[in-house]
Amino acid sequence: MLGEFDLIKRYFIHSRHGQRRDDGYGMADERAGVALAQGDDCALLIPTPGHQLAVSVDTSVAGVHFPEDAPPAAIGHRALAVNLSDLAAMGATPRWYVLALTLPDIDPDWLEAFARGMHTLADACGITLVGGDITRGQLAMTITVHGEVPANEAITRTGARVDDMIAVTGPLGGAHAGLIAWRNGVRDMNDAHLHAYLKPWPRLEAGRALRGLASAGLDISDGLLGDLAHLCQASGLGARLEAAHIPVASGLEKVLGDQAFDAALNGGDDYELLFTLPESSLSAARAKLAACGLTLSVIGRMCQAPGVHGIDTIQHGWQHFYGESR
Ligand code: ADP
Ligand code: MG
Repeated sequence: MLGEFDLIKRYFIHSRHGQRRDDGYGMADERAGVALAQGDDCALLIPTPGHQLAVSVDTSVAGVHFPEDAPPAAIGHRALAVNLSDLAAMGATPRWYVLALTLPDIDPDWLEAFARGMHTLADACGITLVGGDITRGQLAMTITVHGEVPANEAITRTGARVDDMIAVTGPLGGAHAGLIAWRNGVRDMNDAHLHAYLKPWPRLEAGRALRGLASAGLDISDGLLGDLAHLCQASGLGARLEAAHIPVASGLEKVLGDQAFDAALNGGDDYELLFTLPESSLSAARAKLAACGLTLSVIGRMCQAPGVHGIDTIQHGWQHFYGESR
């Protein structure tokens, strides 16, 4: 039986620059801004001068945020991806994260795949695991990410202005279709919708590229209408949407029929970025997103009247403690 320290040593000491030690201590890694990693009471990190720290935490609970029997590599990927998406939304560069992991039991194969899924995404996004905690209980993971953003350049929810355009970085509703596909027994990770649900890719490059162009922004985790309402409220404005311009994930109508548009509006879990920008920044933003392989879709404009207008449907995105009101 592996003890807590064996687990950490085996699965959660992961240096991005190739070195590793076998004594249960993480590596100092100057390039990664790590003076001291796992093995002590705290990690010691080296912030970049002139930057602000962007910090965010999210918990993923089995049966609530992901299916317990999902592929462990996807669970590891997803737990980190949803956190990285918050850094993306602010235009921050990922640097360090800590992982509080709760496991019902020790399954080495499961842990190996889970850690691989997480480390692979971490390496791709340039974020280093510097500490954590392991406890026994219902499968869940709480990840805190730390990113950096040049002082006062972060994209926040509060900066939208009247007449700014409202845009998204990609098609919506695919992840919700993936959730339904999973419930219907689909297990093929090549299924585009299932992939969108279980292995979302954080829009980090896009977020950084939008710094200085977007007036406000956030990531779509709970559904377009709900998250847009947050942006409106934070900015003290309203939004007028053009229903015909909302990008609906391809193949959505085929699997969801007349529920497809509703899934694009309220589905959640898409992790695309939703942002506002003055019309004068539109072509620059479009070009920058194209360089990231993404399409910018303008879906409406900010207006003075509070609320989200132009769409004849009730917003009912996911809210914990209320449940899915559909
Ligand atoms: P403490 O008792 O001081 O909280 P722990 O025994 O929980 O320390 O952890 C020992 C070391 O291993 C710490 O440096 C901690 O950050 C690291 N660690 C524990 N769990 C994890 C994990 N899941 N992933 C990465 N590092 C971990
Ligand atoms: Mg501890």
